[in-house]
Amino acid sequence: MVRGGISLGCRTALHVLARGSLTAIRYRDEIPRPLVRPYAGAVGPGFLLMQDNNSSLPPERADIVIVGGGVVGWSIAYWLKQKEMIRDGVRVLVVERDPTYSQASTVLSAGGIRQQFSLPENIHLSMASADFMRNINEHLSVLNDDPVDLQFNHSGYLFLASEKVAHIMEENYSTQRYAGAKVSLLSPTQLKEKCPWINTDGVVLASYGLENEGWFDPWMLLNAFRRKAISMGVYQCFGEVTGLCLCQYHRDKVDFRRIKYANVQMPNSLEYQPVECAIVVNAAGALSGKVAEMMGIGLGPKDTISGIPLPVEPRKRFIYVVHCPNGPGLDTPFLVDYSGVYFRREGLGGNYIAGMSPEEEEEPETNNLEVDHQFFQNIWPHLAHRVPAFECLKVKSAWAGFYDYNTFDQNGIVGMHPLVNNMFFATGFSGHGLQHSPAIGRAMAELILDGGFKTLDLSAFSFKRIMTKEPILERNIV
Ligand SMILES: Cc1cc2nc3c(=O)[nH]c(=O)nc-3n(C[C@H](O)[C@H](O)[C@H](O)COP(=O)(O)OP(=O)(O)OC[C@H]3O[C@@H](n4cnc5c(N)ncnc54)[C@H](O)[C@@H]3O)c2cc1C
Repeated sequence: MVRGGISLGCRTALHVLARGSLTAIRYRDEIPRPLVRPYAGAVGPGFLLMQDNNSSLPPERADIVIVGGGVVGWSIAYWLKQKEMIRDGVRVLVVERDPTYSQASTVLSAGGIRQQFSLPENIHLSMASADFMRNINEHLSVLNDDPVDLQFNHSGYLFLASEKVAHIMEENYSTQRYAGAKVSLLSPTQLKEKCPWINTDGVVLASYGLENEGWFDPWMLLNAFRRKAISMGVYQCFGEVTGLCLCQYHRDKVDFRRIKYANVQMPNSLEYQPVECAIVVNAAGALSGKVAEMMGIGLGPKDTISGIPLPVEPRKRFIYVVHCPNGPGLDTPFLVDYSGVYFRREGLGGNYIAGMSPEEEEEPETNNLEVDHQFFQNIWPHLAHRVPAFECLKVKSAWAGFYDYNTFDQNGIVGMHPLVNNMFFATGFSGHGLQHSPAIGRAMAELILDGGFKTLDLSAFSFKRIMTKEPILERNIV
């Protein structure tokens, strides 16, 4: 019954899109006038750079409204324009509430990409995204603009396994090799040869990525997607989606809903503009659970589909920048210890960034982005044990960011909601959304415009698994 609803909703949305214009929308006659005067003030600095189709107010209609202008939202916008059949055939609007991106996960992340996952889907997403980044200027260059430079550092991730988890590393290695990733397993002796600065005590196995791994500047990637998408005609609006208006219909004893308008509230104002739309993409990162609630998702009676929330919430993570002049050199990998502590080089000159996810019961408050400097005391002993040079270091600075944390299984949630069949999710990537964003954007564009995944099958990441209570396990979460 539910499956029927999905395809019906998808066809309806695509039907509207196929005609290339929103004037075909059934609800045209019902467009409400804005309840208040059109907004005319408070233009943020970013607007100075914008093109004509990016004035402060959003357009009154868009085929696809993307809520959230982080790296995932902008990647989807780019791919939608890349795949549109007729120039300007699809009107895409990206709504971002914070022009400074001060709390966006994208810009506060560690910037890493790796192939070393345990789920084939995650491995394939990394490989496709690495390929995209390798050829980034073929995809995202803009005429008369400087070429894109992601500041990519090619360097493998080095995972270390203790006796207890070595068998898992071996299984992951088989999956990775089978998926086509180039990874090598190292014994403690080989590890010591490769990294003489490591203390191998407690390590029984290590795995090292031979290609498609490293780190890069997340802001560069976000901005490259944004710049290219705008050059292709995507509309951008700095405002907050504060409500979604819907209509309800009943089919086969199931109540379905469709979003008709996204209400966009402008900065420093109580005014909002309703944007009539055929599809809404929820790419609101750590806040996407809240955006889903605007549609009543999770607010229905318990034991019904509408009572199941989108299980994505902010989880605070700290990153510490340390200075250690005698630390490991230029060929330092992105090291992930079995204790959960990770570090990588940060530029040159003996600087590193380090972090660790807290235990479930230690999860910090998420009402601010203040750093718990004391938490570094949990990390430092592991750092110093693994790299004796780190016994003497100085913490230079630190920052905090929110994981878009999927409490159900820490994997992305990608695809349509079964009842609100014009709301698509691209969220919940927890600690790996940045690196997967290029391939996620392409997959979402396929799902929306072609009606199904074409290049990578991501159906395992659908909302359905949450309804059927079947988590998919990724064993290499950092
Ligand atoms: C400390 C840390 C380290 C990380 N390290 C890595 C890493 O090494 N590699 C990796 O791949 N990933 C990493 N991640 C995870 C990664 O950053 C995220 O998965 C990814 O950036 C998610 O992108 P996004 O576009 O969905 O979210 P965001 O970048 O958070 O963008 C979502 C945007 O939606 C906007 N928004 C929210 N609600 C609304 C609304 N109602 N209306 C309008 N706009 C709205 C927000 O303002 C925000 O800008 C890390 C994250 C953190 C916090």
